[in-house]
Amino acid sequence: MTRGKLFVISGPSGVGKGTICKKLFEADDNLRFSVSMTTRAPREGEVEGKDYFFVSKERFEELLQDGQLLEYNKFVDNYYGTPRGPVVEWMEQGYDVLLEIDYHGAFQVREAYPEAVLVFIAPPSVEELKARIRGRGTETEEQIEGRIAQAMDDMAQADEFDYLVLNDDLNTAVWKVQQVMRIEKGKEV
Ligand code: 5GP
Repeated sequence: MTRGKLFVISGPSGVGKGTICKKLFEADDNLRFSVSMTTRAPREGEVEGKDYFFVSKERFEELLQDGQLLEYNKFVDNYYGTPRGPVVEWMEQGYDVLLEIDYHGAFQVREAYPEAVLVFIAPPSVEELKARIRGRGTETEEQIEGRIAQAMDDMAQADEFDYLVLNDDLNTAVWKVQQVMRIEKGKEV
């Protein structure tokens, strides 16, 4: 059996990574999504084990010490990380795995798996990105400012990725990521 491939999707907060990933999963039965672990509070509508595994800071640090995270980062006072077990098992079973994580995590994954494919999703413009981050309406001004600063920092890393996909039109962006996956899997496009 062929080992599955590891894909990493990154991009600034508010760029629409989540929506792109959702569409990728709907279209590909062989793709598995790594549910991240976080210490941040769930947003309205978020489901435990589906959007994230929500854990305490203590628990996160315990798992980190124990080597159970493939990568992690601290972001606006909260930890985010990828549980190692499912990713390794799925790839061994031949499934492709998609991680939706920030660039710090993406580069840690590249260290661990140099063959991983890193895709950066970019917004149509910085103004639109800022508007989208503000538009969420679930956070304090301080948190919003923090996210915007972080988003600008994220944008500066785009060139380090293997591929850059502009999320101008959702379906086009999804199609482009699918082409990247096909090319990387050695299939005919
Ligand atoms: P949010 O709080 O909006 O869900 O996510 C904040 C940031 O954390 C986003 O940039 C997201 O990509 C990143 N993130 C989510 N899960 C992980 C993870 O498992 N590892 C890392 N390094 N970043 C993550």
